Amino acid sequence: MESVTDITRLVRDIAQEMAAAEDRGAVATYIPPLAMIDPSRFGLCIVTADGAIHAAGDAEQAFSIQSVSKVFALTQALGKVGDTLWRRVGREPSGTPFNSIVQLEREQGIPRNPFINAGALVVADINLAGHEPRVAIGELLRFVRYLADDDMITIDEAVARAEQATGFRNVALANYMKAFGNIQHAPELTLGVYFHQCAIAMTCRQLAMAGRYLMHGGLYQPGGARVVSAQRARRINALMLTCGHYDASGDFAFRVGLPGKSGVGGGILAIAPGKASIAVWSPGLNANGNSKLGTLALERVAEATGWSVFSAM
Ligand code: GLU
Repeated sequence: MESVTDITRLVRDIAQEMAAAEDRGAVATYIPPLAMIDPSRFGLCIVTADGAIHAAGDAEQAFSIQSVSKVFALTQALGKVGDTLWRRVGREPSGTPFNSIVQLEREQGIPRNPFINAGALVVADINLAGHEPRVAIGELLRFVRYLADDDMITIDEAVARAEQATGFRNVALANYMKAFGNIQHAPELTLGVYFHQCAIAMTCRQLAMAGRYLMHGGLYQPGGARVVSAQRARRINALMLTCGHYDASGDFAFRVGLPGKSGVGGGILAIAPGKASIAVWSPGLNANGNSKLGTLALERVAEATGWSVFSAM
C-alpha cells in the first residue's frame, strides 16, 4: 500500500473507526487546562516522502504537544553542544514513568535519556545557556515553525502557567539534579523554559510537517536544506524508538514498530524513515500516559502499510 489514494483512504478509515471507539482512555488531569479537553477528539495526518499530506478528523485543531516537544528541544540542544550533550544525559530506556526520580540518585543526577522529564530538563538547561529564558524559548518556537513551515504555531500561555503552578515533581527533579551539578542555571529558569516548550500548541498537520526532517535523513525535504546530519537524524529516531513512550516504549515498538514520541496532551509523532512523518492526536491516555487511540491508530497504519522498521518490506 503506497499509492496516494490508498493512504488517503487509510487515514479517513482510521479516523472513522476512532470516532466510533468507546474506550478512549482518560485525559490527563494533573495539568488543569488539559483536563478540559474534549476526549472525543481524534486527528491524524500523514505526510509521505513525496510531500503529499493526508489528513482526517480533527487534524487541523491545535493541541498541547507536551512531551513531543522533547524531540525538537533535543535536536536544538545537539545543534548547540553536539555530542558533549551525552556527558549529561544517558541513552537508555528508563523503564520508569515520565516523571520518575528514582534512578537519579543511583546515577548521580544523570538522567537515563532525554525523553523522560529529568532528561528533558537537562536539555532545556543546555538550550538556556547564554540566553534569557524568553529568548531560549523563542528560539525553540522559531525552530519548530521553520520545521513545520508554519508561522502560526504558538505557545499556550495558560497551559504554561498551569504547569508552572502544578509541576511540583518537575521542580523536585530540577532541584535534585542541581544538587549534582547537572542543572547549571537557577532551577526556576530552566523549569520556565521546559514548561513553555511543553505548552507549544500544534495541529496534527503542523506536527507531521515538523517531523519531516526525521523521515528524510536530516533534510528539511528531499533536495532541501540540511536540518541535522543523517547520523543525527538516525540517532534521534533510535532514541524515539527505545525511549519515546516512557515505560511503554517496548510495547509501542512491539505494536507499532516505528520511532515515536508521545505527550500527555494525547499527541504522538511517529516516523517511518524514508516513508512518512505521522502525527496523531486523541486526548485520552492509557495507563502509561500515552494516547490510547493514538497508539491504536498507529498500529493500524503500520499494519496496513508495512512501515514498521522491523518488517522485511
Ligand atoms: N509537561 C508535562 C510534564 O512535565 C509533560 C509530560 C509528558 O507529556 O509526558 O509533566
